[in-house]
Formats: sequence, structure tokens, C-alpha cells
Amino acid sequence: MRKVIMQKKNIVISACLLGKNCRYDGKSKEYARIEELKEKYNLFPVCPEVMGGLPTPRVASENIGDKVFNQDGIDNTTFFNKGASKALEVYYNNKCEFAILKESSPSCGSNKIYDGTFSGKKIPGMGVTAKLFKENGIKIYTEEDIDYLLKEDRNA
Ligand code: SF4
Repeated sequence: MRKVIMQKKNIVISACLLGKNCRYDGKSKEYARIEELKEKYNLFPVCPEVMGGLPTPRVASENIGDKVFNQDGIDNTTFFNKGASKALEVYYNNKCEFAILKESSPSCGSNKIYDGTFSGKKIPGMGVTAKLFKENGIKIYTEEDIDYLLKEDRNA
């Protein structure tokens, strides 16, 4: 039987899931099966907070409505919006077909975010980049979906 070779899809992924130390605390959140993901997809990493102009490490930020404030009370919304637009450019410039974004981040979270009180409490909601991607009709997965995406017959 002839083996069908699938063309690898291009996808955007949060850079911290790939092991890039771009989180606010200067660390990453490398996902255990990232090498397998690289074999199956062409990965285009984005870190919207860094792309928006924020340094690493940086003071943690949380969403309050459509704005984003850091723990010192500084309004970082402009940086977050700029980074979201740049991440969207990466998506379109590389003809990506979906995104894997890190859950709970004020940029990348797509189902839950922190509640804005810096108390560690999460609430349903979306980060700035995830929101922009959704408005553009982009399918968003999180790191919790990677095992599912790696299933043999899965060609998401
Ligand atoms: Fe990771 Fe996104 Fe936060 Fe950057 S902005 S550190 S990619 S979760």
C-alpha cells in the first residue's frame, strides 16, 4: 500500500511552549512533546508581549476588561495590543492554519485568565492576542490539546 505523505501545516505557537525563556519571570513553559509537534507541523513561534516591546523579565500583568495592567499599576495595554497585531501578522504572513496558545496568559490565554487582582485566581476569559485571533476566525488550541493534535490520524 502506498504511504500518503501529508504536507505539514504551518501553525503559530506561543514561544514559551517551545522552551523560549520569554515569560514575565524569565522562564519558559516548554511542553514535553514539543519535538514530536515539530515533526508534525511547521511551527512559527510568537511571544506577543516581547513583540509588543516589553522586556524579559517583566512585572506580571493581568487583564481588566479590555485593558492590561501590571502589578505596579502601569497600563500596558498598548504593548499588548501591538504584540497581538504582530502575532497576527506572523500568522497571515506564513499562511498558518491554526494556533496553539499558552493557556491563562494575559496575551495568549484563550479560555481562562487571571482575574486582575494578582491573587492567583482564574476566571473565564481571553488574553489580548487570543481575542484578536478569535475575532479573525482563527482556531485556537492550548497546550492542553497537544496530545490530541499529536494523535496519529489527526490532521487538524
Ligand atoms: Fe508565552 Fe504568550 Fe506569555 Fe509570551 S506572551 S510568554 S508566548 S504566554
